[in-house]
Amino acid sequence: MSGPGDADYEQRRSVWNGMIDRRPHMILRPKTTSDVSEIVCFAARTGLPLSVRCGGHSFPGFSTCDAGIVLDLTRIKDVTVDPKARIAQVGGGALLGDLDRASAPFGLVTPAGLVSHTGAGGLTLGGGMGWTSRRLGLTIDNLLSAEVVTADGKVVEASPQKDAELFWGLRGGGGNFGVVTRFTYRMHPLGPITVAVWQYGKDQTREALRNLALRVPTAPRSLTLTLNVTVDGLSLTAFHSGDDGLGTAAVMAFADLAGPGDGGLVETDYVSLQCRSDAAMHPGRRYYGRGGFISALDGPVIDCMVDLSQAAPCPDAEIYMIQLGGAVADVPEDATAYSGRAGGFYWIVQPIWDDPADDARCLSWGRQGGKRMADLSQSENYLNEQGDVGKELTIKAYGAAKYDRLAQLKQRVDPTNLFRLNQNIAPAGHVKPPVRASSS
Ligand code: FAD
Repeated sequence: MSGPGDADYEQRRSVWNGMIDRRPHMILRPKTTSDVSEIVCFAARTGLPLSVRCGGHSFPGFSTCDAGIVLDLTRIKDVTVDPKARIAQVGGGALLGDLDRASAPFGLVTPAGLVSHTGAGGLTLGGGMGWTSRRLGLTIDNLLSAEVVTADGKVVEASPQKDAELFWGLRGGGGNFGVVTRFTYRMHPLGPITVAVWQYGKDQTREALRNLALRVPTAPRSLTLTLNVTVDGLSLTAFHSGDDGLGTAAVMAFADLAGPGDGGLVETDYVSLQCRSDAAMHPGRRYYGRGGFISALDGPVIDCMVDLSQAAPCPDAEIYMIQLGGAVADVPEDATAYSGRAGGFYWIVQPIWDDPADDARCLSWGRQGGKRMADLSQSENYLNEQGDVGKELTIKAYGAAKYDRLAQLKQRVDPTNLFRLNQNIAPAGHVKPPVRASSS
């Protein structure tokens, strides 16, 4: 345990987003599932606010709190890969880097995010999108089962066979339903990967995006694009996995979008690629994000991205996009709590800065820019990457019918809303408003 006054308190209370500065009463670091169960019962008895932390990467800082308990899962981070059965058992406090490093020697992968210090816990419970999602689905589409400590301290297994409704809610419903101490994922052969990266200057960005949009419909699902539009222009990455014979042609189909871009094929392995943005997005910088789904990269979206980039308040402010569709869209919308499978791309307007003196203008650009992009976007949303929170946003993101189903499940497994420091689902019939957390 660590508390105010302890030598490690300052380091242990910090989370990824440097905008968040909260002072919990105690930070508890369980080693086993039964420790987790004890802590959950203790929190319920005392009535203290309870934050559950895996990687600590929540934009609004859900994994810490003032004057409460932080249940820090980072000592439950073991990863066991069974290459024959092609499954991985992953502790609820593991980071994506832990999973990638354990899987790489077997040539196996499960789809997850693109930054290695992100927590597998929060990412999975929200959905989880990454380089191989168009080919293999979201992280939750590869979740086979989860070991969960519920609000009454009981340890339960959720899977298609055991409490299928809880398993449905865990796949997109965030940390609302308990503490997941173990995730079991289906793994896949990664195959050879081919990666190309190009940079286009700010005067080429609009033309490059327009030509990109024309080529997107012919992209195979084994290919995924990411875009970063900043004040300096466009950085485009094309990633291909699975079949070596197709990789080069698939990624090079996105070359020369506005004359020859600066760049081309890049030599890398998957684990290194997963660490590519680790330094730029290191813990402690100041962040805000607002995201959404668009069906296609059409003219108004391109104009909006270019306009926003030219008004960027800091050099590292960006409009980031990852291509979706493919296997993500194969799964019916109501099969999991995650909402927004029809999205062709997920975008996020994301200022990244270091000086607190820049807070107001960076937040203002992020919020106003996010609103402009949201006006062009679908109503369903990915709650894992939103800097602002609230019941209205949560209901809109899930849609009323899905939110109601989640609220019924919440009423059954957490009727007192013990797990409320998240994109909160109020238990059906619960009158007390959810506790709000905000990055400003
Ligand atoms: P935490 O702050 O530890 O937790 C986030 C929420 O999940 C909290 O409410 C917490 O209580 C809950 N939680 C975490 N672990 C558990 C658990 N084991 N049991 C119960 N509840 C738990 N998302 C993508 O899909 N793809 C990406 O490529 C991607 N890249 C990202 C890169 C960066 C740098 C960042 C900051 C975020 C990225 N995200 C991405 C979004 C990411 O999925 C969310 O921020 C996610 O919440 C992070 O999980 P965490 O465990 O690190 O966060």
